[in-house]
Amino acid sequence: MSKTILITGGAGFIGSHVVRLFVNKYPGYTIVNLDALTYAGNLENLKDIEGRSNYIFEKANIVDAAAVQALFQKYRPDGVIHLAAESHVDRSITSPLDFVYTNVVGTVNLLNAAKDLWSPLLASSGEEGDPLPRFHHVSTDEVYGALGETGFFTEETRYDPHSPYSASKASSDHFVYAYADTYGLPVVLTNCSNNYGPNHFPEKLIPLMIHNIINKKPLPVYGDGKYTRDWLYVIDHARAIDLVFHEGAAGEKYNVGGFNEWKNIDLVKLLCKQMDEKLARPAGTSEQLITYVKDRPGHDLRYAIDATKINKELGWAPSVTFEEGLSKTIDWYLENQEWLEHVTSGDYQQYYEQQYTN
Ligand code: NAD
Repeated sequence: MSKTILITGGAGFIGSHVVRLFVNKYPGYTIVNLDALTYAGNLENLKDIEGRSNYIFEKANIVDAAAVQALFQKYRPDGVIHLAAESHVDRSITSPLDFVYTNVVGTVNLLNAAKDLWSPLLASSGEEGDPLPRFHHVSTDEVYGALGETGFFTEETRYDPHSPYSASKASSDHFVYAYADTYGLPVVLTNCSNNYGPNHFPEKLIPLMIHNIINKKPLPVYGDGKYTRDWLYVIDHARAIDLVFHEGAAGEKYNVGGFNEWKNIDLVKLLCKQMDEKLARPAGTSEQLITYVKDRPGHDLRYAIDATKINKELGWAPSVTFEEGLSKTIDWYLENQEWLEHVTSGDYQQYYEQQYTN
């Protein structure tokens, strides 16, 4: 089947894993990676597929409506998987408007371009069994707000975002539904818990800790370390996106998570233990680097995803345990220290000083 799939944000952390999966798994597809290459986008993430005949990179900003329309006319994609976003909660607290532009305006620009391109197709019923055209919006569990000690987010949980990041993602989710209801755009959504794995920018918890443990720097833990998150290996998220994109029911959303909750402090201690073993340091060495820092405002206590729907309806489940995934992740960072050095030079240093100096 010869199809063109436009993937936005493909140079970022999760996007690069999705692009790689699609380029390798679907040689009959042409994969167009649209990315603005912000501080979070890095073509080094995709070095292994550069030059492949079914892969094209286009540098463009989704906030630029004319550029988005032109790319839709140039490639006439049969499907869109939308991951481009400003994704870091801490940055959303200092620069909320950047999140409104990219996450809300950028998403609406893509929805408009898809609607304009696909409107003649939407009137016809399409080929039997062909899920395309399809607009897959990749979102987060943070749109649901915070949980107490118990309970899970299901697909029916009411939206209650607390940070500028989650408010912008919730808004983009609503626009996606609005385009399905108003214009009949065929959409699917996935709302996923925290990802970890190779190529994760070291402003996020796990790669930040790995980077600091390697360099014997303090390990900054917010508040009392009791914040609880559900963690999923990024390659399992990419598998879920593939499945929902191809087999999810039109108009439906699917929660994606690892059934794998960790308090931040316990997670950091597990990382310290695994890294002491891998770096042949005496047990307990890295734990001594743990430093509690001032809490982030509006910090949600606990997120936990109920991923029963995607499991029951599409047969998806995580392929690795947390210990296995974490071990693979640490190995990747130890083997790719050049990547880590590149992304932690320049602007990152300035950001780091501002964020973690009490
Ligand atoms: P990331 O920050 O690593 O990557 C984002 C990518 O989008 C980068 O390559 C960046 O260059 C690109 N981008 C940013 N602004 C752009 C713009 N205006 N135009 C074009 N490209 C732009 O993010 P990520 O962690 O890979 O997250 C990808 C998506 O998955 C996001 O939509 C995020 O909300 C969602 N998500 C992330 C997580 C997680 O744990 N990281 C969990 C659930 C959902």
